[in-house]
Amino acid sequence: MRTEVAIVGAGPAGLIAALELARNGIKVKVFEEHPEIGRPNHCAGVLSVEGLHSLGIEPSLKFLQHEIRGGTVFSPDGTGIRVAVSRTRAYVVDRAAFDRHLAETAVDAGVEIETNHRIREFLVEDGRVAGLRGEENIGASIVIDAEGAAGGLARKMGLPIPQGGVLAGINVDVTDVELEPNLVEVWLGERLAPGLYAWIIPTGEGEARCGLGCTKGDAFNLLRGFLERRFDLTECGAPRRWSLLTGGPVRRTFTGGLLVVGDAAGQTKPTTGGGVILGSLCAMDAAETALEALEAGDFSADFLQCYERRWRKRLGKEFSSMLRARGFLNKIPDDRMDRIFASLKGAGLEEALKGFVEEGDMDLQSGVIRTALTDPGLLRVLAGSMGRLAFAELQGLFNL
Ligand SMILES: Cc1cc2nc3c(=O)[nH]c(=O)nc-3n(C[C@H](O)[C@H](O)[C@H](O)COP(=O)(O)OP(=O)(O)OC[C@H]3O[C@@H](n4cnc5c(N)ncnc54)[C@H](O)[C@@H]3O)c2cc1C
Repeated sequence: MRTEVAIVGAGPAGLIAALELARNGIKVKVFEEHPEIGRPNHCAGVLSVEGLHSLGIEPSLKFLQHEIRGGTVFSPDGTGIRVAVSRTRAYVVDRAAFDRHLAETAVDAGVEIETNHRIREFLVEDGRVAGLRGEENIGASIVIDAEGAAGGLARKMGLPIPQGGVLAGINVDVTDVELEPNLVEVWLGERLAPGLYAWIIPTGEGEARCGLGCTKGDAFNLLRGFLERRFDLTECGAPRRWSLLTGGPVRRTFTGGLLVVGDAAGQTKPTTGGGVILGSLCAMDAAETALEALEAGDFSADFLQCYERRWRKRLGKEFSSMLRARGFLNKIPDDRMDRIFASLKGAGLEEALKGFVEEGDMDLQSGVIRTALTDPGLLRVLAGSMGRLAFAELQGLFNL
């Protein structure tokens, strides 16, 4: 079997790359190891309005579950700062339905998708990737590796895989709970969710998707403890676990004949682990590069490095700013976080925070991080509550 572009993985990154290529008349085949697109589904499904727009995806009732207009962030002692805005900032989607929708759109554009087809390794000729080895050999001019967080195919080609900042992520669905209908909840705490936070995402009337990411401890036990504390719940649906990446992109995402995209390349937001939008934007850059390579008939690493230049130019600053923010947040102990929240509430800064949520980009966060860290009111509170050394470190990290 032969194709112009072969893609491993029918997640959002693989499907967006496939769609982009097929729309430009390229013969593309996508290989997915599972029998059904979108399943198993591990994702919390929060996607920003702007993010979907930037991918050219029209919100559709096929996959939309709910709308988010802000949230409440809780410090470890339970002090909440609530920020509700007037417009919809994000959608909650059913990720299985979302992926199916992408797959249908891709197939309509001419993409061929083979489910139940696990790729075992890359075919290598003259030192460059020249196809895939699965149920059979599939020759391809270019391979796009979109195999997600668990992937190990790229490593076999000597490329790095996401390693630092790999968290255990978990979600469960709960019903008959009381919560504000359009606000997410984010709960911080070293003991509750070390390395990230716990979340509650409303999905409908009295229904929510609850989960957390953690660097240590058993994710399900931590989540059970959280659900008991928050809702007095001792029973919940079946947990869905998967790796959540907060360590930023890998060092190198291409080699001869091969481009690596999405979670497989660590292209997720270090602040949250969310990767659908940024990974898919990078997948669009990969598709553009593949188009140019096909036109030039040049599949060498030298030519394909322009993929890496492209996505780093578009998002490099965003990833590094979010990575610094994540590293800094991870070092704040619970008692200091409690003090910061108490001071923020005491200073009545909710209006300023509302402005950041109203205007800030949920995916390209460097702008809102900078705006927040140059706000005089917020800086005064942080300087007074986080300790001199920590504040100096923050100033140094962001060149304030
Ligand atoms: C608990 C949790 C909550 C999350 N919540 C959010 C959120 O709210 N918003 C957000 O944006 N992101 C969220 N994420 C992250 C998001 O799920 C990922 O960033 C996103 O799915 C990455 O897309 P992808 O296409 O790169 O990989 P994936 O979606 O993982 O797709 C990879 C595909 O490749 C297939 N595959 C793998 N190996 C092979 C092989 N050898 N052969 C054939 N097929 C193969 C897999 O079966 C899979 O279908 C969350 C993650 C977790 C774990």
